[in-house]
Amino acid sequence: MRILITGGAGFLGSHLCERLLNEGHEVICLDNLFTGRKSNIAHLLSNPYFEFVRHDVIDPFKFEVDQIYNLACPASPPHYQYNAIKTIKTSVMGAINCLGLAKRLNARVFQASTSEVYGDPLVHPQAEDYWGHVNPIGVRSCYDEGKRCAETLFFDYHRQNGVDIRIVRIFNTYGPRMLADDGRVVSNFIVQALRGEDITIYGDGTQTRSFCYYSDLIEGFVRLMNQDELTGPVNIGNPGEFTMLELAEEVLKLVGGASKVVHLPLPSDDPKQRRPDISVAREKLDWEPKVPLQEGLKETIAYFKVQLGL
Ligand code: NAD
Ligand code: UDP
Repeated sequence: MRILITGGAGFLGSHLCERLLNEGHEVICLDNLFTGRKSNIAHLLSNPYFEFVRHDVIDPFKFEVDQIYNLACPASPPHYQYNAIKTIKTSVMGAINCLGLAKRLNARVFQASTSEVYGDPLVHPQAEDYWGHVNPIGVRSCYDEGKRCAETLFFDYHRQNGVDIRIVRIFNTYGPRMLADDGRVVSNFIVQALRGEDITIYGDGTQTRSFCYYSDLIEGFVRLMNQDELTGPVNIGNPGEFTMLELAEEVLKLVGGASKVVHLPLPSDDPKQRRPDISVAREKLDWEPKVPLQEGLKETIAYFKVQLGL
Protein backbone atom coordinates (compact mmCIF):
# COMPACT_ATOMS: atom_id res chain seq x y z
CA MET A 1 0.00 0.00 0.00
CA ARG A 2 0.93 3.66 -0.25
CA ILE A 3 0.45 5.23 3.17
CA LEU A 4 0.44 8.87 4.29
CA ILE A 5 1.63 9.63 7.81
CA THR A 6 1.10 13.18 9.06
CA GLY A 7 3.47 14.07 11.89
CA GLY A 8 5.74 11.35 10.52
CA ALA A 9 8.97 13.07 11.58
CA GLY A 10 7.97 13.13 15.25
CA PHE A 11 8.67 10.66 18.02
CA LEU A 12 5.85 8.20 17.30
CA GLY A 13 5.46 9.09 13.61
CA SER A 14 9.05 8.23 12.73
CA HIS A 15 8.74 4.81 14.40
CA LEU A 16 5.52 4.23 12.48
CA CYS A 17 7.20 5.22 9.17
CA GLU A 18 9.93 2.71 9.89
CA ARG A 19 7.50 -0.06 10.82
CA LEU A 20 5.39 0.38 7.67
CA LEU A 21 8.44 0.57 5.39
CA ASN A 22 9.72 -2.65 6.96
CA GLU A 23 6.39 -4.26 6.07
CA GLY A 24 7.00 -3.36 2.42
CA HIS A 25 4.68 -0.34 2.09
CA GLU A 26 5.40 3.00 0.45
CA VAL A 27 5.36 5.81 2.99
CA ILE A 28 4.78 9.53 2.52
CA CYS A 29 5.75 11.45 5.64
CA LEU A 30 4.14 14.89 5.92
CA ASP A 31 5.42 17.14 8.69
CA ASN A 32 6.02 20.85 9.37
CA LEU A 33 8.92 19.99 11.71
CA PHE A 34 7.47 21.95 14.65
CA THR A 35 8.40 19.25 17.16
CA GLY A 36 9.61 16.66 14.67
CA ARG A 37 13.14 16.47 13.32
CA LYS A 38 14.74 15.45 10.08
CA SER A 39 17.24 13.42 12.13
CA ASN A 40 14.36 11.10 13.18
CA ILE A 41 13.88 10.09 9.55
CA ALA A 42 17.40 10.71 8.16
CA HIS A 43 18.04 6.95 7.95
CA LEU A 44 14.88 6.52 5.83
CA LEU A 45 15.58 9.21 3.22
CA SER A 46 17.64 6.95 0.97
CA ASN A 47 14.82 4.36 0.87
CA PRO A 48 13.10 4.64 -2.56
CA TYR A 49 9.77 3.79 -0.90
CA PHE A 50 10.01 6.76 1.48
CA GLU A 51 9.21 10.42 0.77
CA PHE A 52 9.34 13.40 3.12
CA VAL A 53 7.09 16.39 2.44
CA ARG A 54 7.47 19.55 4.53
CA HIS A 55 3.92 20.81 4.85
CA ASP A 56 1.46 22.03 7.46
CA VAL A 57 -1.69 19.91 7.99
CA ILE A 58 -3.81 23.03 8.40
CA ASP A 59 -3.26 23.72 4.67
CA PRO A 60 -5.00 21.30 2.30
CA PHE A 61 -2.94 18.56 0.64
CA LYS A 62 -3.47 15.93 -2.03
CA PHE A 63 -1.79 12.55 -2.38
CA GLU A 64 -2.92 9.30 -3.95
CA VAL A 65 -2.77 6.91 -1.00
CA ASP A 66 -4.53 3.81 0.37
CA GLN A 67 -4.30 4.66 4.06
CA ILE A 68 -3.78 7.81 6.15
CA TYR A 69 -2.44 7.97 9.69
CA ASN A 70 -3.03 11.42 11.24
CA LEU A 71 -0.45 12.02 13.97
CA ALA A 72 0.36 15.69 13.35
CA CYS A 73 0.01 17.63 16.61
CA PRO A 74 2.49 18.63 19.29
CA ALA A 75 2.01 16.26 22.23
CA SER A 76 3.96 17.72 25.13
CA PRO A 77 2.20 20.36 27.31
CA PRO A 78 4.89 23.09 26.90
CA HIS A 79 4.88 22.58 23.12
CA TYR A 80 1.12 22.49 22.64
CA GLN A 81 0.66 25.49 24.94
CA TYR A 82 3.39 27.49 23.13
CA ASN A 83 0.85 28.52 20.48
CA ALA A 84 -2.50 27.28 21.75
CA ILE A 85 -4.53 28.59 18.81
CA LYS A 86 -2.21 26.86 16.36
CA THR A 87 -2.62 23.62 18.34
CA ILE A 88 -6.42 23.71 17.97
CA LYS A 89 -6.10 24.54 14.29
CA THR A 90 -3.73 21.62 13.84
CA SER A 91 -6.13 19.16 15.46
CA VAL A 92 -9.33 20.45 13.87
CA MET A 93 -8.20 21.54 10.41
CA GLY A 94 -5.71 18.68 10.21
CA ALA A 95 -8.58 16.25 10.86
CA ILE A 96 -10.81 17.95 8.26
CA ASN A 97 -8.03 17.84 5.66
CA CYS A 98 -7.25 14.17 6.33
CA LEU A 99 -10.94 13.22 6.33
CA GLY A 100 -11.64 15.15 3.11
CA LEU A 101 -8.76 13.37 1.42
CA ALA A 102 -9.89 9.98 2.78
CA LYS A 103 -13.42 10.65 1.53
CA ARG A 104 -12.22 11.47 -1.99
CA LEU A 105 -9.87 8.48 -2.13
CA ASN A 106 -12.05 6.00 -0.28
CA ALA A 107 -9.02 5.46 1.94
CA ARG A 108 -9.00 4.28 5.55
CA VAL A 109 -8.00 7.07 7.94
CA PHE A 110 -6.56 6.77 11.45
CA GLN A 111 -6.64 9.40 14.17
CA ALA A 112 -4.05 9.55 16.96
CA SER A 113 -6.34 10.65 19.77
CA THR A 114 -5.41 10.75 23.41
CA SER A 115 -6.25 9.82 26.98
CA GLU A 116 -6.58 13.61 27.42
CA VAL A 117 -10.13 13.27 26.06
CA TYR A 118 -10.89 11.87 29.56
CA GLY A 119 -9.48 15.08 31.14
CA ASP A 120 -8.98 14.84 34.91
CA PRO A 121 -10.95 11.60 35.10
CA LEU A 122 -13.55 10.88 37.78
CA VAL A 123 -13.73 7.24 36.67
CA HIS A 124 -10.72 4.99 37.19
CA PRO A 125 -9.38 3.18 35.20
CA GLN A 126 -10.67 4.85 32.03
CA ALA A 127 -12.68 2.77 29.55
CA GLU A 128 -13.72 3.99 26.10
CA ASP A 129 -17.34 4.58 27.14
CA TYR A 130 -16.33 7.20 29.74
CA TRP A 131 -17.13 10.67 28.35
CA GLY A 132 -14.50 12.43 30.39
CA HIS A 133 -14.12 15.42 32.70
CA VAL A 134 -12.47 18.13 30.64
CA ASN A 135 -12.09 21.84 31.39
CA PRO A 136 -13.13 23.60 28.15
CA ILE A 137 -11.36 26.89 28.98
CA GLY A 138 -8.12 25.91 30.73
CA VAL A 139 -4.50 25.86 29.57
CA ARG A 140 -4.75 22.21 28.45
CA SER A 141 -8.02 22.75 26.56
CA CYS A 142 -6.36 23.68 23.24
CA TYR A 143 -5.06 20.12 23.13
CA ASP A 144 -7.85 18.21 24.91
CA GLU A 145 -10.74 19.93 23.15
CA GLY A 146 -8.91 19.96 19.81
CA LYS A 147 -8.53 16.19 20.05
CA ARG A 148 -12.15 15.77 21.20
CA CYS A 149 -13.35 17.83 18.24
CA ALA A 150 -11.19 15.74 15.91
CA GLU A 151 -12.91 12.59 17.23
CA THR A 152 -16.28 14.26 16.60
CA LEU A 153 -15.26 15.08 13.03
CA PHE A 154 -14.08 11.52 12.46
CA PHE A 155 -17.44 10.13 13.57
CA ASP A 156 -19.45 12.72 11.60
CA TYR A 157 -17.51 11.96 8.40
CA HIS A 158 -18.10 8.28 9.15
CA ARG A 159 -21.86 8.64 9.73
CA GLN A 160 -22.47 11.27 7.05
CA ASN A 161 -20.08 10.17 4.29
CA GLY A 162 -19.24 6.58 5.16
CA VAL A 163 -15.55 7.37 5.64
CA ASP A 164 -13.64 4.34 6.94
CA ILE A 165 -12.20 5.58 10.26
CA ARG A 166 -10.01 4.24 13.04
CA ILE A 167 -9.42 6.08 16.31
CA VAL A 168 -6.86 5.20 18.94
CA ARG A 169 -6.70 6.87 22.36
CA ILE A 170 -3.04 6.87 23.29
CA PHE A 171 -1.98 6.86 26.94
CA ASN A 172 1.43 8.34 27.89
CA THR A 173 4.01 6.75 25.62
CA TYR A 174 7.79 7.13 25.81
CA GLY A 175 10.96 5.90 24.18
CA PRO A 176 13.87 6.79 21.89
CA ARG A 177 13.39 9.88 19.66
CA MET A 178 11.55 11.91 22.25
CA LEU A 179 13.14 15.36 22.35
CA ALA A 180 15.56 15.97 25.23
CA ASP A 181 13.83 19.32 25.89
CA ASP A 182 10.37 17.95 25.16
CA GLY A 183 9.03 18.77 28.63
CA ARG A 184 7.26 15.44 29.12
CA VAL A 185 7.97 13.65 32.34
CA VAL A 186 9.95 10.60 31.18
CA SER A 187 12.37 12.57 29.00
CA ASN A 188 12.68 15.31 31.64
CA PHE A 189 13.56 12.90 34.46
CA ILE A 190 16.03 10.88 32.36
CA VAL A 191 17.82 13.93 30.97
CA GLN A 192 17.95 15.56 34.41
CA ALA A 193 19.35 12.38 35.98
CA LEU A 194 21.96 11.95 33.22
CA ARG A 195 23.09 15.58 33.59
CA GLY A 196 23.17 15.36 37.39
CA GLU A 197 20.52 18.08 37.63
CA ASP A 198 17.61 18.19 40.07
CA ILE A 199 14.65 15.96 39.21
CA THR A 200 11.65 18.29 38.90
CA ILE A 201 8.48 16.80 40.36
CA TYR A 202 5.44 18.99 39.80
CA GLY A 203 3.21 19.11 42.89
CA ASP A 204 3.59 16.44 45.56
CA GLY A 205 4.27 13.72 42.98
CA THR A 206 1.32 11.53 43.98
CA GLN A 207 -0.44 12.03 40.63
CA THR A 208 -0.30 8.89 38.51
CA ARG A 209 0.33 8.02 34.88
CA SER A 210 0.57 4.73 32.99
CA PHE A 211 3.56 4.51 30.67
CA CYS A 212 3.62 2.54 27.44
CA TYR A 213 6.79 1.80 25.46
CA TYR A 214 6.64 3.02 21.87
CA SER A 215 7.04 -0.41 20.25
CA ASP A 216 3.96 -1.79 22.03
CA LEU A 217 1.96 1.26 20.97
CA ILE A 218 2.96 1.03 17.29
CA GLU A 219 1.94 -2.65 17.28
CA GLY A 220 -1.49 -1.57 18.59
CA PHE A 221 -1.77 1.11 15.85
CA VAL A 222 -1.10 -1.37 13.07
CA ARG A 223 -3.47 -3.98 14.50
CA LEU A 224 -6.32 -1.49 14.77
CA MET A 225 -5.70 -0.12 11.29
CA ASN A 226 -5.61 -3.50 9.58
CA GLN A 227 -8.77 -5.15 10.89
CA ASP A 228 -12.29 -4.60 9.56
CA GLU A 229 -14.50 -4.92 12.64
CA LEU A 230 -13.66 -2.03 14.95
CA THR A 231 -13.59 1.74 14.26
CA GLY A 232 -12.55 2.57 17.82
CA PRO A 233 -12.08 4.68 19.80
CA VAL A 234 -9.85 2.12 21.43
CA ASN A 235 -7.48 2.71 24.34
CA ILE A 236 -3.89 1.72 23.70
CA GLY A 237 -1.60 2.03 26.68
CA ASN A 238 0.09 0.12 29.46
CA PRO A 239 -2.12 -0.37 32.51
CA GLY A 240 0.88 -0.35 34.88
CA GLU A 241 0.22 2.78 36.97
CA PHE A 242 2.93 4.79 38.75
CA THR A 243 3.10 7.98 40.79
CA MET A 244 5.61 10.57 39.59
CA LEU A 245 7.54 9.92 42.83
CA GLU A 246 7.83 6.25 41.88
CA LEU A 247 8.90 7.15 38.33
CA ALA A 248 11.62 9.48 39.67
CA GLU A 249 12.84 6.73 41.99
CA GLU A 250 12.98 4.19 39.16
CA VAL A 251 14.88 6.57 36.85
CA LEU A 252 17.36 7.47 39.60
CA LYS A 253 17.91 3.79 40.37
CA LEU A 254 18.68 3.02 36.70
CA VAL A 255 20.80 6.10 35.94
CA GLY A 256 22.59 6.40 39.28
CA GLY A 257 24.28 9.74 39.97
CA ALA A 258 23.71 12.46 42.49
CA SER A 259 20.50 14.15 41.39
CA LYS A 260 18.06 15.08 44.11
CA VAL A 261 14.32 15.46 43.82
CA VAL A 262 12.84 18.98 43.99
CA HIS A 263 9.17 19.94 43.95
CA LEU A 264 7.81 22.65 41.62
CA PRO A 265 4.23 23.97 41.43
CA LEU A 266 1.69 21.67 39.83
CA PRO A 267 0.52 23.10 36.46
CA SER A 268 -3.20 23.87 36.34
CA ASP A 269 -5.65 21.12 35.35
CA ASP A 270 -2.93 18.46 35.66
CA PRO A 271 -4.87 15.15 35.79
CA LYS A 272 -4.55 13.40 39.16
CA GLN A 273 -4.76 9.85 37.88
CA ARG A 274 -4.69 7.99 34.60
CA ARG A 275 -4.79 4.30 33.72
CA PRO A 276 -6.22 2.68 30.61
CA ASP A 277 -8.80 -0.06 30.69
CA ILE A 278 -7.50 -2.08 27.72
CA SER A 279 -10.21 -4.79 27.66
CA VAL A 280 -11.35 -3.73 24.16
CA ALA A 281 -7.82 -3.86 22.71
CA ARG A 282 -7.25 -7.22 24.41
CA GLU A 283 -10.48 -8.75 23.13
CA LYS A 284 -10.82 -7.22 19.67
CA LEU A 285 -7.19 -6.72 18.65
CA ASP A 286 -5.59 -9.48 20.71
CA TRP A 287 -3.20 -6.75 21.84
CA GLU A 288 -1.49 -6.08 25.11
CA PRO A 289 1.74 -4.33 26.03
CA LYS A 290 4.83 -6.48 26.47
CA VAL A 291 7.59 -4.11 27.58
CA PRO A 292 7.73 -3.43 31.33
CA LEU A 293 8.59 0.09 32.50
CA GLN A 294 12.07 -0.80 33.73
CA GLU A 295 13.05 -2.35 30.40
CA GLY A 296 11.67 0.54 28.34
CA LEU A 297 13.39 3.05 30.60
CA LYS A 298 16.74 1.28 30.11
CA GLU A 299 16.42 1.55 26.31
CA THR A 300 15.37 5.19 26.56
CA ILE A 301 18.23 6.03 28.92
CA ALA A 302 20.69 4.42 26.46
CA TYR A 303 19.25 6.58 23.66
CA PHE A 304 19.54 9.82 25.64
CA LYS A 305 23.11 9.00 26.68
CA VAL A 306 24.08 9.01 23.00
CA GLN A 307 22.00 12.14 22.29
CA LEU A 308 23.65 14.03 25.12
CA GLY A 309 27.12 12.81 24.11
CA LEU A 310 27.66 10.94 27.41
P1 NAD B 1 5.70 14.69 18.56
O1 NAD B 1 5.57 16.10 18.98
O2 NAD B 1 7.05 14.06 18.57
O3 NAD B 1 5.10 14.47 17.10
C1 NAD B 1 4.16 15.31 16.50
C2 NAD B 1 4.60 15.55 15.06
O4 NAD B 1 3.61 16.36 14.40
C3 NAD B 1 5.92 16.33 14.98
O5 NAD B 1 6.76 15.73 14.03
C4 NAD B 1 5.48 17.72 14.55
O6 NAD B 1 6.49 18.43 13.84
C5 NAD B 1 4.26 17.40 13.71
N1 NAD B 1 3.34 18.53 13.60
C6 NAD B 1 2.85 19.31 14.61
N2 NAD B 1 2.01 20.23 14.11
C7 NAD B 1 1.96 20.04 12.76
C8 NAD B 1 1.28 20.68 11.70
N3 NAD B 1 0.47 21.73 11.93
N4 NAD B 1 1.47 20.22 10.44
C9 NAD B 1 2.30 19.17 10.19
N5 NAD B 1 2.97 18.53 11.17
C10 NAD B 1 2.80 18.95 12.44
O7 NAD B 1 4.70 13.86 19.48
P2 NAD B 1 4.35 12.31 19.52
O8 NAD B 1 4.47 11.87 20.94
O9 NAD B 1 5.08 11.58 18.48
O10 NAD B 1 2.79 12.34 19.20
C11 NAD B 1 2.27 11.93 17.94
C12 NAD B 1 0.75 11.96 18.01
O11 NAD B 1 0.29 11.08 19.04
C13 NAD B 1 0.18 13.34 18.34
O12 NAD B 1 -0.99 13.55 17.59
C14 NAD B 1 -0.16 13.24 19.80
O13 NAD B 1 -1.23 14.11 20.16
C15 NAD B 1 -0.56 11.78 19.93
N6 NAD B 1 -0.37 11.30 21.32
C16 NAD B 1 0.87 11.02 21.80
C17 NAD B 1 1.00 10.60 23.12
C18 NAD B 1 2.33 10.24 23.71
O14 NAD B 1 2.37 9.93 24.90
N7 NAD B 1 3.42 10.21 22.99
C19 NAD B 1 -0.14 10.48 23.93
C20 NAD B 1 -1.37 10.80 23.40
C21 NAD B 1 -1.48 11.19 22.08
N1 UDP C 1 5.72 16.16 35.46
C1 UDP C 1 6.63 16.29 36.50
N2 UDP C 1 7.86 16.78 36.22
C2 UDP C 1 8.24 17.11 34.96
C3 UDP C 1 7.31 16.97 33.91
C4 UDP C 1 6.06 16.49 34.20
O1 UDP C 1 6.32 15.97 37.67
O2 UDP C 1 9.40 17.54 34.80
C5 UDP C 1 4.38 15.59 35.77
C6 UDP C 1 3.21 16.38 35.21
O3 UDP C 1 2.82 17.39 36.12
C7 UDP C 1 2.17 15.29 35.07
C8 UDP C 1 2.98 14.04 34.74
O4 UDP C 1 4.32 14.33 35.14
O5 UDP C 1 1.50 15.08 36.29
C9 UDP C 1 2.98 13.68 33.26
O6 UDP C 1 3.34 14.81 32.53
P1 UDP C 1 3.55 14.82 30.96
O7 UDP C 1 3.73 16.25 30.56
O8 UDP C 1 4.60 13.85 30.60
O9 UDP C 1 2.18 14.23 30.37
P2 UDP C 1 0.63 14.54 30.62
O10 UDP C 1 0.47 15.46 31.81
O11 UDP C 1 0.17 15.18 29.37
O12 UDP C 1 0.07 13.21 30.88
